[in-house]
Amino acid sequence: MSTDLTSSKLKNAKSVLAQLPSVDRVLNAPASRELLAEHGRPEVTRVVRHILAELRDELRAVKEMATPRVAVTVDKVLARVSEQLTREAAGSLVEVFNLTGTVLHTNLGRAALPAEAIVAIAAVARGPSNLEFDLESGNRGDRDTHVEDRICAITGAEAATVVNNNAAAVMLVLNTLALGKEVPVSRGELVEIGGSFRIPDIMSRSGCKLVEVGTTNRTHLKDFAHAIGQDTALIMKVHTSNYVIEGFTKAVSEADLAELCRRHCIPFVNDLGSGTLVDLERYGLPHEPTPMDALRSGADLVTFSGDKMLGGPQAGVIVGQADLIGAIKSNPMKRAMRCDKMTLAALSSVLQLYANPDTLQERLPTLHALTRPESEIRAAAERVRSSVDAALRLAGDVAVCSCDSQIGSGALPTRTIESAGLRISPRAAISETAILDAFRALPRPVIGRIKDGAVVLDLRCLMDEQAFVDQLAALKVEA
Ligand SMILES: *Cc1c(COP(=O)(O)O)cnc(C)c1O
Repeated sequence: MSTDLTSSKLKNAKSVLAQLPSVDRVLNAPASRELLAEHGRPEVTRVVRHILAELRDELRAVKEMATPRVAVTVDKVLARVSEQLTREAAGSLVEVFNLTGTVLHTNLGRAALPAEAIVAIAAVARGPSNLEFDLESGNRGDRDTHVEDRICAITGAEAATVVNNNAAAVMLVLNTLALGKEVPVSRGELVEIGGSFRIPDIMSRSGCKLVEVGTTNRTHLKDFAHAIGQDTALIMKVHTSNYVIEGFTKAVSEADLAELCRRHCIPFVNDLGSGTLVDLERYGLPHEPTPMDALRSGADLVTFSGDKMLGGPQAGVIVGQADLIGAIKSNPMKRAMRCDKMTLAALSSVLQLYANPDTLQERLPTLHALTRPESEIRAAAERVRSSVDAALRLAGDVAVCSCDSQIGSGALPTRTIESAGLRISPRAAISETAILDAFRALPRPVIGRIKDGAVVLDLRCLMDEQAFVDQLAALKVEA
């Protein structure tokens, strides 16, 4: 009897599989013509084979579950082939929705660029530009000129230069001014930023010797004074961007360090990390040190990121004394760290927005997102709630909730900003992770976070509501 069943099962399975079209039939169907023209025969053939194999497995599974089988037409196969080809053609680097609540999320590409910057990038990307060509004299130019004047006008610095990112800026400063020499740094400031940027490692790779000064919680001026010797190249202060030391603490003021450096004729360097170019308090945000403050407090050089609070492209900005900037620019390492034309175009256009402080909040996406009123975010949550609820098909309960956004990228780590969003509490056999995964699997992935047994989507950074809602039909939560 069991043999009978097996043989009938086998027969049924065969007949199910027999209805799958062959690779040739799919490729020769008139409907394939467009796909072949766009993606080429080898690509289409590869994907057709792959989809047919997937369908074969699915049909076998369907058969085992004794579910009524559905006809697999050539059109059905081609629809899946087309979908996969489109997905593959898009590559692996895709746009996502950042609903994590962290506005400057390093893993999600940090600052969103303003429209003006995107236009500027496209213009120089399309063809030749005067990147290193002086249009007045017809001679060779310097790529920094496209941003230097604007940076100096905003920060009040004598001179400026830009490199790939702030990590490169710190390395270049140290390698230029302290190669083979000593650099005292407070033990309270030996920071690690995201694993790969650690002050002690950056210093040794830059070719200088770190001299640890003071203790973790307290460093005095006399500690620095004792650390300065024949081999001291400069003193570096590092902004403790991603942590705070509280309690019985002491740090030496920037003015005192600057004064000490002046007495010993060595430069004082301040690595600010984020370094906003505006007074954030003006926009109702907590204070964050600016390069202007740092220069005023006596720093000879200040380094900061282009894609943190500044709201521009990935870049590292070095501002300060003209002679020091000159030395940095003539270090051969500068060549290995220089920015490309698209970065410079974007940075220049972002800096231009700072010329008018009245429109900055509206035109600079980072500042716009950070200052978006809670009421406006809550209204957005009310608008999209029912669409998310419907898309979840009973996998979870959706409620509008209050949540806390963060600036991110180390800026003001202990301060949060009141925000609103959706709280999705999973039902029965569904886990929070399953819901989070389903949102991540959408055509334009939605990145949320898990908090207290629920998925939270912070809507502070949701600017394209329609695109978010439109793709929700594709949401599939798997238990
Ligand atoms: C973020 C940060 C860096 C590294 O900057 P990148 O732009 O990520 O290279 C260095 N120093 C401090 C203090 C920072 O906060």
